[in-house]
Amino acid sequence: MTALTLTNVNKSFGTVHVLKDINIEVNEGEFVVFVGPSGCGKSTLLRTIAGLEDVTSGEVRIAGEVVNQTPPSKRGIAMVFQSYALYPHLNVRGNMSLALKQAKESKATIEARVAEASRMLSLGDYLDRFPSELSGGQRQRVAIGRAIVRHPKLFLFDEPLSNLDAALRMNTRLEIANLHEQLGATMVYVTHDQTEAMTLADKIVVLRDGCVEQIGSPMELYNNPANQFVAGFLGSPA
Ligand code: ADP
Ligand code: MG
Repeated sequence: MTALTLTNVNKSFGTVHVLKDINIEVNEGEFVVFVGPSGCGKSTLLRTIAGLEDVTSGEVRIAGEVVNQTPPSKRGIAMVFQSYALYPHLNVRGNMSLALKQAKESKATIEARVAEASRMLSLGDYLDRFPSELSGGQRQRVAIGRAIVRHPKLFLFDEPLSNLDAALRMNTRLEIANLHEQLGATMVYVTHDQTEAMTLADKIVVLRDGCVEQIGSPMELYNNPANQFVAGFLGSPA
């Protein structure tokens, strides 16, 4: 089953044409990375999948269902942003529980889900701490935990590591890879970082100026880049 299908997706802001005829298929359980330089439309693309932006034309399908008219909260997705945007007045447990409380999940379900996520992310000792009492890496793990507890069909990550220093970036990257393995969930991950793309992806989508330049496995893109741009961005030195 296809987890996500984008068909001829276009997005304009006024007269600015940002996404141009995007066609992408993501299979269930796949880890797909959208990579490309700053300003090429990665975040906009992710936001149209999430439903935070409407598409100007084209179709977005999640798990086979057209979701163009479906509000974000009903799309079965969870998004992790670059800035963790935790609620400062809630402790870790509160931050992770909030969306489930709003969805009127039972107390037992909420407890079980928070326990499961904090085990996966080694946050068990931090549940009573507030965001101001956590390191940057721990905060980002809480943000990821907030996504996990919702058991989404589809995880969306928008440059989740870019606010972390180099050592933490690597740790958190490994943690996300681990998580993908444990959950078997479908993940779409946006970055401008070639190393992240090459190490995390089952499949890479290279974007440039709102267009898809090439789609393939890391090895395919490395060995057979479609053009100079892809070669310069990901490929082997010529
Ligand atoms: P990326 O995430 O790859 O850096 P973005 O998706 O943020 O790129 O932006 C792509 C282009 O769309 C940029 O030129 C940006 O200025 C423009 N853009 C993004 N959001 C808006 C908006 N709300 N209104 C107008 N232009 C926007
Ligand atoms: Mg962006």
